Amino acid sequence: MSGAPQYKTLKGMQDILPPDTFLWQSVEQAAHRIFSAFGFQEIRVPVLETTSIFSRSIGEQTDIVEKEMYTFTDKGGRSVSLRPEGTAAVVRSFVEHNLHSLPSPQKFYYSGPMFRYERPQSGRFRQFFQIGVEAFSDPHPRMDAEVISMLGRFLMAIGLEQVSFQINSIGCEQCRPAYKDALLLFFADKKEHLCPDCVRRFDRNPLRILDCKVSRCIEARTGAPRITDHLCQDCRMHFGKLQELLVLLDVSFTVNPEMVRGLDYYTRTTFEVTSKGLGSQNAVAAGGRYNRLVKEFGGPDTPAIGFAVGMERIAELLKRSVSLTWPVPAAFLAALGDTAGNEVLRIADVLRRQNLWVEVGDCHSSLKSQLRRADRLAARFVFILGDEELRSGTLKWKNLADASQGEVKIAELQDFLTGG
Ligand code: ATP
Ligand code: MG
Repeated sequence: MSGAPQYKTLKGMQDILPPDTFLWQSVEQAAHRIFSAFGFQEIRVPVLETTSIFSRSIGEQTDIVEKEMYTFTDKGGRSVSLRPEGTAAVVRSFVEHNLHSLPSPQKFYYSGPMFRYERPQSGRFRQFFQIGVEAFSDPHPRMDAEVISMLGRFLMAIGLEQVSFQINSIGCEQCRPAYKDALLLFFADKKEHLCPDCVRRFDRNPLRILDCKVSRCIEARTGAPRITDHLCQDCRMHFGKLQELLVLLDVSFTVNPEMVRGLDYYTRTTFEVTSKGLGSQNAVAAGGRYNRLVKEFGGPDTPAIGFAVGMERIAELLKRSVSLTWPVPAAFLAALGDTAGNEVLRIADVLRRQNLWVEVGDCHSSLKSQLRRADRLAARFVFILGDEELRSGTLKWKNLADASQGEVKIAELQDFLTGG
């Protein structure tokens, strides 16, 4: 017996093993299918980028940049970081490759690992996977509505229905400064009640106090001015129109004026999808509009909107709420003796060309041990090939689920399995 393993995954990182990987694949396939129907195309950006790409866009004063980035100096002396999210890198790519010259709007999706040095807990990892989308060049709330309803379609397609959409508008450069002033005024005499993080960010970004999860900050903000009461005319119209369109598209939502998101680059629309099925880490997806980021990255003035879905939380919810069926072999071919062993290999090869999952038994093992393996794999049909079957060209089959049995000609095996 071996003892405790010498090597383990790093804290906050995990292996995704079968059968969970089947579930992950089906979620990824649904994303691919649904996002494609909305005209989003896949983009793949590196996992490692220049640090300033993230610090400038996400914001120097955010948790992600202040505390959570995996940043190091590479052998060439550059400061590089493992991506903590996807948007900044996609915007970098959009500007670098002049993607704004493509037919407008330009719509992309991505998936892959993100890295944040957070305190690991249920639903919170240091390496986690996101699937995200970004749509560029369309400033109209119609695009916000399309993106949000696409997220709804995706969640529905994978079988998650117990989720709720919260939306908000956090204004723009016209109206947010005055709102910030109103917040500063409100919190001015409550500063000593705030947590140290909020005190520190008080001057730079008082909006963040609304997002803080520390109970004394939650208490201190009762009665705080609401952003939705401070929006300028354009932002108010944008937000109003978005709500109309969401109703039209049958997306049910609630307006949450306290939802300000932990990234600096958002303008106007922000949204979050939460699930009751998860504990405190209940956000399964989040996103928003970011109309200034492309310009800040040196590109043309380009409005944009996107979201990211957290794969681990989605997978966890699906495991709890949906009855899952894992793929099983369509056929297990047991063989008795060398000649039969070769023949099942040939038959398996023919069947596998039809993309059927076919397992072959070890012809030198007893039939009993081969059948035990078929049973453990929960193969749908077991076929047994021995000298007699080789002579007659007919196989005995057994359906492991209902124990029915019968015979089939080797030449007709493919039709038998595909129901043709
Ligand atoms: P949270 O409020 O849960 O910290 P966030 O605002 O930091 O989320 P985003 O950066 O907007 O999240 O990322 C979008 C989604 O990615 C989240 O809704 C969540 O599902 C997932 N996510 C974010 N951080 C983690 C993490 N450390 N581990 C697992 N999933 C995560
Ligand atoms: Mg977070």
